[in-house]
Amino acid sequence: MPPLTGLQIQKLLPKTNCKECGSNTCLAFAMKLAAKKAHLSECPYASEEAKAILGAAAEPPILTVTLGSGENALVAGGETVMFRHEKTFVNQTGIGLAVDDRMDDGELERRVKAVADYQLERVGEVLRPDLISIAWRSGSKDRFLGALDRVSCLWDRAIAVRTEDAEMLRAAAEKLAGRRPLLASATSATLDELCEVAKQTDSVLGIAADRFDHLVPMVERVREKDGRALFLELRADSLSERIQNNILMRRSALKSQFKPFGYPTLSYIDTGDPLDDAVEAGLEVTKYGSLVVLPEFDPAVFVSLLTLRQNIYTDPQKPIQVTPKVYAIGEPNEDSPVFVTTNFSLTYFIVSGEIENSGISTWLLVPECEGMSVLTAWAAGKFGGMKIAAFAKEVELEACTKNRKIVIPGYVAQISGELEEALPGWEVIVGPQEASDIESFVKSAFVV
Ligand code: SF4
Repeated sequence: MPPLTGLQIQKLLPKTNCKECGSNTCLAFAMKLAAKKAHLSECPYASEEAKAILGAAAEPPILTVTLGSGENALVAGGETVMFRHEKTFVNQTGIGLAVDDRMDDGELERRVKAVADYQLERVGEVLRPDLISIAWRSGSKDRFLGALDRVSCLWDRAIAVRTEDAEMLRAAAEKLAGRRPLLASATSATLDELCEVAKQTDSVLGIAADRFDHLVPMVERVREKDGRALFLELRADSLSERIQNNILMRRSALKSQFKPFGYPTLSYIDTGDPLDDAVEAGLEVTKYGSLVVLPEFDPAVFVSLLTLRQNIYTDPQKPIQVTPKVYAIGEPNEDSPVFVTTNFSLTYFIVSGEIENSGISTWLLVPECEGMSVLTAWAAGKFGGMKIAAFAKEVELEACTKNRKIVIPGYVAQISGELEEALPGWEVIVGPQEASDIESFVKSAFVV
């Protein structure tokens, strides 16, 4: 069903214009609903018919599916746009590592621990992998369930179990009761049985097929059974086919409201070449992959994927920001000078890092700039001399230091006069334009 227009929505509302929803008229409220800027629950008089129709229309075209639980849950799907600049992407691509039960205990433990301990901090966010997928390869049920036990003890995030054997998936799902694992994956032959297993064990079912025309009837069968939490694993022979599949599925779900493709996707990558694996995984992150599982843990690959993912899944309308305040860089005291920059996270972390590298301890004044970089904030009137001075007074900068030197970014040298007037008694120093030149600037301007 195509999205309803404001006028179509208005016909479903009571049309009494009582204003209790906060809008002056039912039409105005309907327009907000159409733009997804309001929720029907804000109208206390909405009929059951309106709730049924608008509730279905408000569902994201790609279902939101959760693996695991609590703060370690992996949430996938829920996407509403083809391109991030249209609005934003919602749930970032899950990144996982594959292990299997042929590995000896030491090797299994080493791999799981390596990925469990791995994390990196970037622009104030902690980035880490999301999932371990354990495959049944040994042929021994006992060995597999023992390996699953070890993974389950060492890993508290989402788990996927990989085999097409329905009996083994059932045993694994029962062992992982309460962990909401991914059962990867059902085939046409095991679909009905595994739907029941997923329902009984509160697991999420993956559905695997090699072709669209095999996948679609399987999804429709699941939908008839009301088994809704799914991942779709459409296997591909090449990178181009993989990406074409992802694009076609996303486009069909969003533009044509084709429900069988309205689920998150699952991709196991194993080309045999570590570099090709990294490229394929990167393209999955870039083009609509919901969950991608790599065969090996290589920190160099994971840092690239996690960084790429952060860049793509950051809301373009809400830049990552740090709190406006005075930051201590190093161990500044009452003789330390002050540097100024904006509260765009990337700018803050680069500038503070370069100051630290220079060996000087300073105060770093970071006024509210709505997360803009230096030049953008200045052009938008958020980073002028008056604004910086007003913020310095608000945070009582003069209580931090008796040193009256304040360094501004070289790109906004033109505000130095205004800042000096607004901060009487302070010497405004124009710093370098590029953060990478801070170290040499500090050596020439200050005794370190
Ligand atoms: S609360 Fe409901 S009935 Fe009242 S104005 Fe809003 S939409 Fe109309």
